[in-house]
Amino acid sequence: MFIDLKETILEVIYPGSFDPLTNGHLDIIERAADKFERVIVSVLNNQKKTYLFSLQERIDMLKKSVSHLKNVEIDNFDGLLIDYVNEKKCCMIIRGLRAVSDFEYEMLMAIANKKLNPCVETLFLVSASEYSFLSSSLVKEISGFGGDVSSMVPKYVEKALNKKFREEKNGK
Ligand code: ADP
Repeated sequence: MFIDLKETILEVIYPGSFDPLTNGHLDIIERAADKFERVIVSVLNNQKKTYLFSLQERIDMLKKSVSHLKNVEIDNFDGLLIDYVNEKKCCMIIRGLRAVSDFEYEMLMAIANKKLNPCVETLFLVSASEYSFLSSSLVKEISGFGGDVSSMVPKYVEKALNKKFREEKNGK
């Protein structure tokens, strides 16, 4: 007999930088939305990091791209993830795993978060094989050189990237 996770865990948090959102992120969000009652996708705004897209731009990308998923909410946070998770009274964090290269960092974060709050679990969703090469940095690299990223990001994000790099070129 299979255990229906929906019966035990209702709400999950999927945190990330989403700078920008890619089809790999979107795939994880859709799969989580199918398994859980509510998914909070939360955009990290780390003051020490430099992002290509502002917090508001990253939030807008997500909102436009997940509007077909009625049980997905977009939020944002800064500071420690576990403080945010506690504040939301949530007990499960979703992360995506692409390759072995993700594993070490993700594992350390999961253990650290478990130490900070033993009640909170981290659930890893393995990337779909067609997106396992895909990262926000790769998308920025390709788009920055004028390459075609239409198969890697949602339409809205593709437009935002074109606009961003065109503005940069024009010195705005
Ligand atoms: P962070 O700075 O938190 O790593 P990212 O936006 O880069 O933020 O990634 C957020 C989460 O999405 C991470 O768990 C990452 O491993 C996962 N992720 C990123 N790209 C993909 C992809 N192509 N397929 C599946 N998961 C992905």
